[in-house]
Amino acid sequence: MKTLRIFMIAFMAVALSTACGDKKTETASPAPDAPTAIEEAVTEAEPEEAPEPVAKDGVTQVTITGNDQMKYDLKTITVKAGEKVELTLKHVGKMAKNVMGHNWVLVQPDTDLGKLGVASAGAVDTDYIPEAYKDQIIVFTKMLGGGESDVITFDAPEPGTYIFLCTFPGHHVMMRGEFIVE
Ligand code: ZN
Repeated sequence: MKTLRIFMIAFMAVALSTACGDKKTETASPAPDAPTAIEEAVTEAEPEEAPEPVAKDGVTQVTITGNDQMKYDLKTITVKAGEKVELTLKHVGKMAKNVMGHNWVLVQPDTDLGKLGVASAGAVDTDYIPEAYKDQIIVFTKMLGGGESDVITFDAPEPGTYIFLCTFPGHHVMMRGEFIVE
């Protein structure tokens, strides 16, 4: 019994000294400096999200452009339910309407864009707005050529995520975005 107790004490002493030793080592070694380098490189990316839409006299104003590279400058437009929206589409390119036409068409969230695209391409007489899709299409601008613009005013629909696109043949693949109503 006595032997065991001595052994225990000895063991504890060893354990304690080891612990102390560890602690000393830890304190002695300087803590590695935290990295202080700050990323200064701020890349100026093209704005893809609309700046907060400006509400003027109760009307939310949104401007979106389309260019000769078949691109809108916005991928997302966010407005509030029940607001009046005044949307301006500007074709900032130089190409003609029959070559690089752009419009802005707002459609219901469940619209099959592939089918709408096919129907639109055949709707030459109605500026690529297919009659068969009038229930899916909420609002739309005129089809524009380079340098032209059009303004439409409408009431924001019920909250949800809608789709906007250009219905010029083949353009909806590149030219589409989300119209979010909060
Ligand atoms: Zn287009």
